Amino acid sequence: MPEKRFYIKTFGCQMNLADTERIVGILEDAGYIRVQDEKDANILLLNTCAVRQKSENKVYSMIGRWKVKCPDRIVGILGCVAQEAGATILDRFENVSFVLGTVGEWKLLDVLHRVYKGERVVEVDLEGGIPEGLPVHRESSFKAWVNIIYGCNKFCTYCIVPYTRGRERSRKPEDILKEVEELVRAGYKEITLLGQNVNSYGKDLPYDYSFAKLLSEVDKTVSNDVWVRYTTSYPRDFDDGLISVIANSKHVCRNFHLPLQSGSDRILKAMNRGYTMQQYRTLVRKLKERFPKMGLTTDLIVGFPGESDEDFALTLDAVREFGFDMGFTAIYSPRPGTVAAHMDKQVSHEIKRCRLRMLNRLLAESSLRNNKKRLKRVEKVLVDGVAPKHRGMLQGRTEENVTVVFPGDESLIGNFVNVRLLEAYSFYIIGEREV
Ligand code: SF4
Repeated sequence: MPEKRFYIKTFGCQMNLADTERIVGILEDAGYIRVQDEKDANILLLNTCAVRQKSENKVYSMIGRWKVKCPDRIVGILGCVAQEAGATILDRFENVSFVLGTVGEWKLLDVLHRVYKGERVVEVDLEGGIPEGLPVHRESSFKAWVNIIYGCNKFCTYCIVPYTRGRERSRKPEDILKEVEELVRAGYKEITLLGQNVNSYGKDLPYDYSFAKLLSEVDKTVSNDVWVRYTTSYPRDFDDGLISVIANSKHVCRNFHLPLQSGSDRILKAMNRGYTMQQYRTLVRKLKERFPKMGLTTDLIVGFPGESDEDFALTLDAVREFGFDMGFTAIYSPRPGTVAAHMDKQVSHEIKRCRLRMLNRLLAESSLRNNKKRLKRVEKVLVDGVAPKHRGMLQGRTEENVTVVFPGDESLIGNFVNVRLLEAYSFYIIGEREV
């Protein structure tokens, strides 16, 4: 087997997918070859997610499987589980060669060098600046992520991210704008600004700079046919200045992803979310007034400790009230070291599952209702690829982030097309291209 062939498997969110693009870039730039089958690799890498116990379990079962199926390989664990578990991974799994936390991907080549010399390495220091200029292997040739801020200072009581990704660290605006310019020059059609909480952008910079200002600068930097998105927003910090910037922008998509998490003020307080339902309601009202045509999506958790039937009913009421286009739902999963993991009145798994089913059903109805209202419109769609469940059809997204499926030739992938929306389903709309 030729040397330096690596396989990488990524679990988790966009942040992890973006990290993987840098990890692959660093390795390919140094002459390593990426392979798509783990059996062809002599380096096996896992970029991990610790947001739920289930995702963490997947990591450990994969390491165990590699021990049996792929012995004698270098095995490296990166990402949030690496950060959280550190050296204990080496103690637990003798086949793991190194553990590299979330802040140290730029050390990867040095870590591998030490591994080749026979060392088992753990690098999980959360301190450190933001290395610029790392090579990136972008998976898409038309959609790109641009990290703007790393880490999170919010400490929502259920969330492990502040522990696995450290405190907020904003990139300099000039570095971000340079990257955006390069992407536009390379022909990218959609740029998503990425951060655990994008609204915190700039607060740690030694001069006055905000996310609203950055978004406005990015909007001016991109040219005609480019969409700008951002994720994730924190409802409490989504201020009027930002709303004005979006309203005056040419390229920022009118799609708002505002994680609500619960419809109960009592639970929001226990989650340390820092807003009430009334504040969230006011924000949504302002947005709907300013943007009569917009997409609204959210994140919701069921079964947070102490969530009663009444609390959960308020979450269902919130879905009815706000009419979300889509909700990313999750069962609360206690994470070691977080405040909520030690709270009384943990909710049983059966109740959580039952609530999740009810919530998902209601969200599907909400989405279908909204999609029906969109019918007959002609929408600009960025074509993502072949529709996985519809033979001979393509799939893309509208500015409002609604999935549209329509017949078309694969040469359209990566381009904007106009599609007339004809048939609504819960999570997508079937359409026909208008030429
Ligand atoms: S804002 Fe809250 S939920 Fe989001 S990453 Fe930070 S701590 Fe976690």
